Amino acid sequence: MNDCLPEQTPAWQQAEAVLRDTMNAYGYAEIRLPIMEVTGLFQRAIGEVTDVVEKEMYTFEDRSGDSLTLRPEGTAGCVRAGIEHGLLYNQERRMWYMGPMFRYERPQKGRYRQFHQFGVEVFGLHGPDIDAELIMLTARLWKALGVSEHVTLQLNSLGAPEERSAYRDALVAYLEQHRERLDEDCRRRMYTNPLRVLDSKNPEVQALLADAPVLSDYFGEQTRAHFAGLQALLTAAGIGFELNPRLVRGLDYYNLTVFEWVTESLGAQGTVCGGGRYDGLVEQLGGQATPAVGFAMGMERLVLLLETLQRVAPQPALADVYVAAAGEGAQAAGFALAERLRDQLPGLRVMSHCGGGNFKKQLKRADKSGAAIALILGEEEIARGEVTVKYLRGQGEQQTLALDEVIEQLKQKGI
Ligand code: ATP
Ligand code: MG
Repeated sequence: MNDCLPEQTPAWQQAEAVLRDTMNAYGYAEIRLPIMEVTGLFQRAIGEVTDVVEKEMYTFEDRSGDSLTLRPEGTAGCVRAGIEHGLLYNQERRMWYMGPMFRYERPQKGRYRQFHQFGVEVFGLHGPDIDAELIMLTARLWKALGVSEHVTLQLNSLGAPEERSAYRDALVAYLEQHRERLDEDCRRRMYTNPLRVLDSKNPEVQALLADAPVLSDYFGEQTRAHFAGLQALLTAAGIGFELNPRLVRGLDYYNLTVFEWVTESLGAQGTVCGGGRYDGLVEQLGGQATPAVGFAMGMERLVLLLETLQRVAPQPALADVYVAAAGEGAQAAGFALAERLRDQLPGLRVMSHCGGGNFKKQLKRADKSGAAIALILGEEEIARGEVTVKYLRGQGEQQTLALDEVIEQLKQKGI
């Protein structure tokens, strides 16, 4: 679990601002959800035989003996909230969220135990058009963040549940024939969650899969039309993609479209964003059948990518103006000046000196704050209703002006 220090927050804020603006540009509303839910919700939603539920959840009993879990992802809670508050039935909802998630994993670069996801969930739309919109908005995000050249889109369809289950039988039959070439993990998965064998990282298993049955051979007309429709829309929008028949995603609830945005700039943890359709989940969790699609983006990986590609804007100064004040009654007058500036020049960043000391010490602090201008209030200035303006970055001679003139000057300089 990481601390995000003051030196690191500007990169996060930069990314978060782009995410928020982009969501506004598409008409999506923010939803804020609790960071824990009852454990059963995740077991049912994510699936018992997934990495997340088998070994990654932070689960504990509260004082009344209820089993709670720190959320490992956002979709389950979002669906729970949607059902509970009647947001989903017979309606269209486009929502987003951002916040911490928790998984007990082996920490390494790009993989942490508390991490942050930005996620989007859309309910009530079943066509490939909304799948395309989600992908388009992620593409816009990459562009706004300046990383488009470094991410690629991987696309697959997992078909309808019946198609997947017919395929599953064929896959299991094939894997059974080659049992001896499977590793222990895959042997266990073979019956519980055979599709996960497809994304095994073991080269021996990957070699074996070259001749395995192919999921798309089991697709019916509707699945084919949905997938083709999505690809046509992406192509029309100028968004390139790679079809990846091995892309199955780690959580159980997906059907039809699944996608990932991956980068080669981050080493092993290269998936920055992943999502797909989950048309069965709302009903499975007790709501009316509602089509749904969503994705989640790992914020740490995104920020790492921005840092790696040097897309983070230089550290901003903390202030534009630093108010230094010394002498009898100076502190109160300094605060009054600073407040007045904040009132009259919205957006101006004003820092007031606190802690006393002579002007030499105060101006050192002013310099350190990064401010372009120090406004100096001594006893003489206060008596005459004036302020001394000192330019800290060589933009002009020091001058003593009336208060109103100072404000006028700041306005004119656009500081
Ligand atoms: P991975 O294959 O990397 O474990 P996942 O399939 O478990 O990813 P999802 O559950 O789909 O990931 O979560 C969506 C995104 O959240 C991932 O693509 C990744 O960017 C991010 N993410 C997932 N787990 C972590 C983690 N432990 N630390 C940091 N980011 C994570
Ligand atoms: Mg994982």
